[in-house]
Amino acid sequence: MERIPVYQCDLTGNEKKYVDDCLESTWISCKGKYVKLFEERFAEYIGVKYATGCSNGTVALHLALETLGFNVGDEIIVPSFTYIASSNTIVQAGAKPIFVDSFPDTWQMDTEDIIRKITPKTKAIMAVHLYGQMCDMDKICKIAKEHGLFVLEDCAEAFGSKIGEKYAGSYGDISAFSFFGNKTITTGEGGMVVTNNKLLYDKAVRLKTQGVSAYKQYWHDLPAYNYRMTNIAAAIGLAQLERADEFLAKKRALVDMYRDFLKEVPVVCHGEKEGTTHSYWMFSILTANEQERDSLRSFLDEKNIETRPLFFPVHTMEVYNHCHEKHPVCEDFSLRGINLPSWPGLQKEQVVYICNMIKEFYLNKRK
Ligand SMILES: *Cc1c(COP(=O)(O)O)cnc(C)c1O
Repeated sequence: MERIPVYQCDLTGNEKKYVDDCLESTWISCKGKYVKLFEERFAEYIGVKYATGCSNGTVALHLALETLGFNVGDEIIVPSFTYIASSNTIVQAGAKPIFVDSFPDTWQMDTEDIIRKITPKTKAIMAVHLYGQMCDMDKICKIAKEHGLFVLEDCAEAFGSKIGEKYAGSYGDISAFSFFGNKTITTGEGGMVVTNNKLLYDKAVRLKTQGVSAYKQYWHDLPAYNYRMTNIAAAIGLAQLERADEFLAKKRALVDMYRDFLKEVPVVCHGEKEGTTHSYWMFSILTANEQERDSLRSFLDEKNIETRPLFFPVHTMEVYNHCHEKHPVCEDFSLRGINLPSWPGLQKEQVVYICNMIKEFYLNKRK
C-alpha cells in the first residue's frame, strides 16, 4: 500500500492549459487576464462585491488588517485555537492579539469568552473558521455591532463553508483566504482579500501595489507593500475554482464514509453544526487522551497513513505565553486531536483502509 498523505491537491482540470497560456503570452507577473478573471469569479462564488488576489494567505490577512488600520495598544480578539498566522499578522499590524477559548461542540471561538475579553481598547474580532466549521457569525456580528468593532474573517480553512446559504467571507467587514497547496482550492502560494466595502477594497488594492497613486502616474502616496498575486497563480486558481463544488462534494462524501466507519470506534468526530455547511478542509477526530493520540498516530504512520495533530493553542507558544493564560477547551483538544487524510482525490478503498487500521488499533488496545 502506497503512503497516504494527509493532503494532496488535484490539478487535473484546466490548470495546465491556463498556465501554458500564461507562458505563451509571457504575462507571468501580476498583469495578464487571469488575475482579474479569478478575482471576479471568486467574489461571485463567495457572494461579495470585491476580491483582490495576494501572494499568500498570511499577507492576505496582514493586508486585511492594514486596510482596516490599527494603532499600538489596539486589541483584536482572536481564538487561541488557530494557525499561527492569525495572531502573527495582528502583531505585524501593530495591534495586540487577545486570545479566547473555543466552544467544545464546534471547536470555534467561544462567544461568551469574546464578551468577557472586550475592553475599551478592543477594535476588532478576528473570526477563524477552524478546519472548515463556521464560527457563530450571527452572534459575533451582533457583539461587534453592539460594541462598535470590526469583524475580520480568517477563511483560510473555510472556502465553501456556509451558514444557510451565506458563505464564510461574506460576514466580515473584510475577509482573507489562503490558497496554499493543502487548502481546499490552491494556487500553489496565494491568497485573497474580499469585502463588500468599496473604500476598503480600494485601500487594499493600493496597499498591495506599493501605494501607487490613483491620480498621478509613478507617484506613491502610502508606505505600502508588494503583495500581488501572479498571473500564473491566478490561472491555477481559476481552474481550481471551476471544480470547487466537485472538490467540496467529494470531501463531504469521504467524511460521510469516515463517520459511518468510525461509529464503532471510541473517537469523537468533528461535527457539523445544524444549519451550517462544514467544508471539511480537514476531517478531525478526538481520542481519549494525549497518550492514546500519540500511539494512534504512530500506529497509523507504521501503516503508511499520514496524519496531523490539531494545532497547538497559540497562547502556549513562546512568543505569546509571556502572560500565562488558561484556555482549557482548546488546550485539551490540541492534545487529543488528529486530522485524517481529507483530500478530494482520496479513494473509497483508502478511507476503508484508514478506518480499518483505526479499528485495529482499538482492538489491539483492548486485548
Ligand atoms: C493556511 C492558513 C493561513 C495562512 O495561509 P498561507 O497561505 O499558508 O500563508 C492563515 N490562517 C489559517 C487559519 C490557515 O489555516
